[in-house]
Amino acid sequence: MKKAIFWHRRDLRIRDNAALFHALKNKVQVLPIFIFDVDILSKLDNKNDARVNFIYREVKRLKEEYERHGSTLLVMYGKPQEVFQKLVDRHEIISVFTNKDYEPCGIERDQSIQEFLSSKRIEFHSFKDQVIFEESEICKDDGKPYTVFTPYSKKWKSKLTQFYLSAYPTFKYISNLSKERPYEIKSLEEMGFNELELTFPDRKVNRAILKKYKEQRDIPSIRGTSRLSLHLRFGTLSIRELALEGHSMNETWLNELIWRDFYMMILFHFPHVVHSSFRPKYDRIVWRNNLEEFEAWCKGQTGYPIVDAGMRELNATGFMHNRVRMIVASFLTKHLLIDWRWGEAYFAEKLLDFELASNNGGWQWASGSGCDAAPYFRVFNPSLQTKRFDPELKYIKRWVPEFEDPFSYIKPIVDHKFARNRAIDTYKKFLNYTE
Ligand code: FAD
Repeated sequence: MKKAIFWHRRDLRIRDNAALFHALKNKVQVLPIFIFDVDILSKLDNKNDARVNFIYREVKRLKEEYERHGSTLLVMYGKPQEVFQKLVDRHEIISVFTNKDYEPCGIERDQSIQEFLSSKRIEFHSFKDQVIFEESEICKDDGKPYTVFTPYSKKWKSKLTQFYLSAYPTFKYISNLSKERPYEIKSLEEMGFNELELTFPDRKVNRAILKKYKEQRDIPSIRGTSRLSLHLRFGTLSIRELALEGHSMNETWLNELIWRDFYMMILFHFPHVVHSSFRPKYDRIVWRNNLEEFEAWCKGQTGYPIVDAGMRELNATGFMHNRVRMIVASFLTKHLLIDWRWGEAYFAEKLLDFELASNNGGWQWASGSGCDAAPYFRVFNPSLQTKRFDPELKYIKRWVPEFEDPFSYIKPIVDHKFARNRAIDTYKKFLNYTE
């Protein structure tokens, strides 16, 4: 029997899924698949990888959901092209549907899969799903991409209509799933990972938090932000559903979702940011890159309690509050003059919500090298940041329980005033700024 394949990637849900909707509506029976990509898994050397655990759990949940509808999720393990070869050998496939990926590696992978499928006369259809506006949908009047957030967000809001927030009614056509028998998938151990007892943030919007978002979002000691980044990263929640909440509940929160669209648009139009500075002249900076200092930063042993608390939260939980992400990133790049790419890579390894576009955007923002970034002379003062955002030291004491006062705590690895001047002088020297 002729079949269409629906390929799940960063969209681990049935509800409101653009490409799945189009596949189901197409009247050919749809076989959903997920591929554990060995090219990605082989690069992970931590057997206790929390993200792999999260994906595995969500894939199992999704498979059970499909099974309740008389179908299943075919979970494959291998290189995508080899997997498609196997599928083509076993089934009469006429088309493949998937949601778009905007990362350079994802674009390359999809191109090679599309070429392979086209050599077999199989259609490949990809759809916008993980953002509200993609690629060049929001651009300047001259057709060029925006590189500054505020005008981008204004245009974004002016273009927003109900159409862009409407959910795709996938369940209306759910009977077009191919009828399959349940089966057992490979265990995590068989894939080389340990199954861990972990709890992940709830997969639902907490409206009480959204209501007070503007007032509380910068206070790291309280649950003032949504904690939905992990679900947005893996598409266990739909961006349309969340943007609709933001649109009706809290514009400040909606703005954060727009930052996400913005960074994905930047990555799409300026893929050089993956390895280099958005502003090329920032690549002239010769970083100090002191290994011992980098290690102290990673471990949360810099002597600056707010920085140490953030890094310890990250190491212990795979999450760090946004305000503290900005503080630790500024500290690494400006106080220690360590290449933003080192910090970016460390975050990429540790963050559960690691997402290339936002992580790269956040790091380049902090180091000054990004689009619409903090100016090079803006060096966060960790003590002032603490006074403003953690005045009672609640967050610090949670993650650095030994901290009592600055005198009994470990000595700062660098003096703030000295580091600030050194950072400004270094940036000035390499960027050739004149005052
Ligand atoms: P909320 O404050 O509730 O925001 C809602 C959603 O909006 C988030 O889940 C996220 O999807 C999006 N969002 C919020 N802030 C930003 C932002 N500044 N840029 C882009 N999207 C945003 N976010 C990631 O999702 N993955 C990353 O790898 C990542 N790395 C970062 C690195 C640095 C150095 C910095 C400064 C920020 C980074 N961010 C990253 C952005 C932000 O810190 C997180 O999205 C946020 O802390 C997640 O918590 P939340 O879900 O409670 O966010």
